[in-house]
Amino acid sequence: MEEQKKGTAEQKKSCINCGAELTYKPGSTQIKCDYCSHEEVIDQKGQEFQELDLKPYLDEFGSQSHSEEILMLQCKNCGANQHIEETYKSLHCVYCTMPLIIEDAKKEDWILPGAVLPFQFDQRKSHQIFSKWVKGLWFAPNNLKKAALDPQYTKGLYLPYWTFDAQLYAQYRGERGDYYYVTVPYTTTENGKTVTRTRQEQRTRWTPASGDVSGFVDDTLIKASNQRRNPVPSKIANWNLDSLQPFNSSFLAGFVTEKYTIPLKEGHLESTKEAENIARSWARHDIGGDTQRVHKIKMTLNEETFKHILLPVYISSYQYSGKKYNFFINGQTGAISGKRPYSFWKIFFFILFILILLGIIGYIASKNN
Ligand SMILES: [Zn+2]
Ligand SMILES: [Zn+2]
Repeated sequence: MEEQKKGTAEQKKSCINCGAELTYKPGSTQIKCDYCSHEEVIDQKGQEFQELDLKPYLDEFGSQSHSEEILMLQCKNCGANQHIEETYKSLHCVYCTMPLIIEDAKKEDWILPGAVLPFQFDQRKSHQIFSKWVKGLWFAPNNLKKAALDPQYTKGLYLPYWTFDAQLYAQYRGERGDYYYVTVPYTTTENGKTVTRTRQEQRTRWTPASGDVSGFVDDTLIKASNQRRNPVPSKIANWNLDSLQPFNSSFLAGFVTEKYTIPLKEGHLESTKEAENIARSWARHDIGGDTQRVHKIKMTLNEETFKHILLPVYISSYQYSGKKYNFFINGQTGAISGKRPYSFWKIFFFILFILILLGIIGYIASKNN
């Protein structure tokens, strides 16, 4: 084992009573032993958010101080790259449940996370959310409730994201539009006669406008996981980043961590596009008037920093009549979304019922005529 630095992902803690590995206790700032219920407070003293200067990381990656090697397992089926602790008894891809082979594990470089949003509830609670969701589903097969939700396929996963901060300065050229109204005559027919009336119509007076805007762009969040086969539904991908904690590997203990597959460079391009949208909206606000046109914008970003952050989701799949379905739960808010089975017969009888109802209505209507 290499020398263990504080805040590295590979750091592990064992129970002082029984030697078992301690895992993070969701919703707390503690790690706990599953066997003897010993608990320890996660020491966050002196830990800070790691905002890193962007430039050196964009120029060349590998020699930076804030990176390390981590043991990664790539899923041959769906391509997800996940850090799985060696002590896991069963190794399955969190996304597609394919078995993973520990011998395939590779040491890879990664930029250490600067912050983590710890899980707020445990796996048991995620099962309750799942059960409640199933009960509320329309046209779900009756015996779906009994469908096997295999706990070994329910995993808490930390998803990778990039966040970017920058000092934005932009010069713009455009036009300011002010509305005014004109009285326009028009002809119409009233009581068989052609008459002339007037109405008010809106017009816009355009005047050239130019100037500059500046300000701080804070925490532009960019997805760093490129899952095409099993994308995390955007419906659940909303986290409150105020609850971010300075990175500490103790928060990852007992969970799977995905390594970013969207490189920093690509993430930065995305965030630059978002910054340009922000600059445009600032320019529009600066121009004022009723409406605006922005023809040209020249933006510069200074003092750019970034963070690699980890956000929590529970991913599971369940078997139902030989097919596999996925669902996702936001590990902070409990929002749920997923694929689900439909009952053919329930839909069949519902449509039949509607058709019969329409038939009856049609019959009554034709009798009344
Ligand atoms: Zn113990
Ligand atoms: Zn997979």
